[in-house]
This record gives sequence, structure tokens and C-alpha cells, in this order.
Amino acid sequence: MSAGELGAVTAGPPATSEQWTRRYGDALMNTFGTPRGVLVRGEGPYVWDADGRRYLDLLGGIAVTVLGHAHPTLTAAVSAQLGTLGHVSNFFATPNQVALAERLLALARAPQGSRVFFTNSGTEAVEGLVKMTRMTGRTRILAQEGAFHGRTMGALALTHKRAYREPFEPLPPGVEFLPFGDAAALEAAMDDDVAAIVLELVQGEAGVRPLPPGFWALARRLADRHGALLALDEVQTGIGRTGEWFAFQHPDLGAGVQPDVMTLAKGLGAGFPIGAVIGFGAAGSLLGPGQHGTTFGGNPVAAAAGLATLGVIERDGLLAQARDLGTRLTRALAQLPVVSDVRGRGLLLGAQLRAPAAARVADLAMEAGYIVNPVTADTLRLAPPLILTWDQVAGFVDLLAGLTPADLEEAR
Ligand SMILES: *Cc1c(COP(=O)(O)O)cnc(C)c1O
Repeated sequence: MSAGELGAVTAGPPATSEQWTRRYGDALMNTFGTPRGVLVRGEGPYVWDADGRRYLDLLGGIAVTVLGHAHPTLTAAVSAQLGTLGHVSNFFATPNQVALAERLLALARAPQGSRVFFTNSGTEAVEGLVKMTRMTGRTRILAQEGAFHGRTMGALALTHKRAYREPFEPLPPGVEFLPFGDAAALEAAMDDDVAAIVLELVQGEAGVRPLPPGFWALARRLADRHGALLALDEVQTGIGRTGEWFAFQHPDLGAGVQPDVMTLAKGLGAGFPIGAVIGFGAAGSLLGPGQHGTTFGGNPVAAAAGLATLGVIERDGLLAQARDLGTRLTRALAQLPVVSDVRGRGLLLGAQLRAPAAARVADLAMEAGYIVNPVTADTLRLAPPLILTWDQVAGFVDLLAGLTPADLEEAR
């Protein structure tokens, strides 16, 4: 098909970033603020804006594009599936969804009886989780301060940030937020009315904050003692992000201790929208016929994207690459005069600055051709593609190395 033929069904003639931004403001709801740019193309870890400027994408679409942009294997898998069978209803099964579910259960080393439900996003995976907790006949859910689990009403009930919640109250009841990583608070709150403890092993949106050592194992013990579910949100941390398939498999995050329920999304389709909620063991049978549903979830194209993503990560040894680059980046960033702390694992990193100047430093980085995210006032979040190399990212470290604490004070 010629470019001219395609033009009739695509965005139309090229325009400048400024022109697109003006049209964006007139056509889209203002839920995200003014866009930081208008991107038109990507390749590997790089993206280009509508004015032809290139950027190194160190945010990866917020921990999504694990294979980088326009990966040939992902592109081929998605195109081939769309050209074969693009969508069926969930009255039918497709080979891709079956194979992807089996693959995820195997990677999680999930026991007999474990089952998967596919969704289109992280927040929908969390909705599935919430509905699973209701099937226990209990309604108390223990979440953590700083938690982010999504924006639909059930997931929002588990999300801590006041500004996100308040305009939409009343939210589904039963959720209690405990001080982050506070073992005594968790022990005190537990009883036989608790349906679930819901955790992130690394809180991404709260500034890349890992739970303290031992907390995960304690939560497992308490959930077992009181017959509650232990639910883990790996929407951001899953699919190789921390250098293991799932964060709970990371030796110093979860040490392989399994949850009862786990949510996935972001990296699962490497940019194609797909999420999943997994019930481990008996939790795989909490939801029965008629109790949950979705039109698109487990769609053959999305499932093809998931299979291709997992296949490339395995074939190309990207878990080891993410671990090695993460370790090297952590060391390099920790030595910089403007950085006071580096948190996270693998390629989910938070560089805490010595002053609350993250937004300004992110602007400077963008001007220099690097996309990073000022996730909190004083922390830059990096969640780049797992294919990233040291040579590609070294220039960003040099850029930060050129800043002094005095520059940060000035930038506040
Ligand atoms: C991003 C995120 C979600 C929500 O996922 P969406 O696809 O944006 O709905 C839920 N939980 C965590 C931990 C996330 O990082």
C-alpha cells in the first residue's frame, strides 16, 4: 500500500510539535496537562519528535516498552496475527491466549490449579484482583500508604493519593492504608476479617520505594495465619523490569515467596495493551462462570504481543542484561554529587536528588535529548527498555555529573 493510500486513514499530513500540541489541547480532555512533546517514531531505545529531534527514552513509556521501540520480532508477531485472526469473542478460545497463560504460569512457577484472567490494562487487572478478594466473603483489604494501583473505581479504592481519590468518593469501602513498610502496623491490623493484604514490592509511583527486607515474608506468614489472600501488584515491576521475570523472584525483594494473586500489565505486551491477573493455586478458582468478563481481554493480537515479548526477553538474555546494566547505573548514579540515594532494582531506578529539583532536572535532560520522569519533587525515575546498553546511557550520567548541588538549589 502506498503512503498516499495510507494517508487517507491515518493522522494526515505532518505538522510541527507546536501545531499538534495546539490541536491536542482543543481535542483531548485535559487529564494529563500539556504534553511534554509530540512523538512520531521510535527505534530501539530512541524516539523522535514531530520536529525531527531524537531522544533517548529512559522512561520506556512508564516501564512499558521493555523491547524498545519498533522491535522487529514484536512487529512481525502482531502484524502476522492481525493478518490471520484479529479478534474473536470470549465465547471462543484462541491458541495464543492459552499459550500465553501457560507461559506466565510456568515463569511464575505457579502451583497446580493456578489460573490466568487477561485484561487490557493494569487497572483492569487490579479490578479483577478486587473482585477475587470479594469472593472470600470478607471485605477488609490492607493496603500501603503511597500505593498506586490504578484509576478505575475499585483500583482507585486501593490507591492512596488523596488528590486522585477525593473527587470520586464514595469509593468501594473496606480498604485501610497502613504506614509504608511498617511491620508492627501490619501485625496489629491483621485478623480473620481481612480478605487480602495488597502490596507492591517496589512502589513505582511513590518514588521507586522498595519494601523493607523481611516485610514480604512477614505478609506471607500473616496472610497464611489468618486465611487471607496475599496480593501482589507487579503491573510496574513484572516482566523483567527488576532483572527477574517478577519482582517476587528477586533474591532481595521476595526471595521467590509466591503471592496468591498477582497483577501484570505495562511490560507484558511491550507497548501493545494487555494485562493479566493470576490466581495462584486455589485462588485460581475464586472467580467462576459469569462472575467476570471482558470483550478485548486475551484478544489474539494482544496475546501474540505477550508471547513475542516473553520470547524475546528469554531469547536475548534480557533479564541478565537488565540486572547488569541496573547494577552499573546504580553505582554510577550513586557517585554523582547531586544524587543522595538510588533506589530500586534492575531497570526500575529512582535517583533521589539533594534538593527538590527533579522537574527542572528532567527539563534540562529533555533539552539535552533524554526522557526521564520527575516521579516526585526530588526523585527522577528511570524505567528504560531492557535492551538499553551502557554506551547509550553513559551520556545521561555525564549530563548529571556536570551538575552541582548549587545548580539544584538554583533550579528549585
Ligand atoms: C501503572 C500501574 C497500574 C495501572 O495500570 P494502567 O495500565 O495504567 O491502568 C497499577 N498498578 C501499578 C503498580 C502501576 O504501576
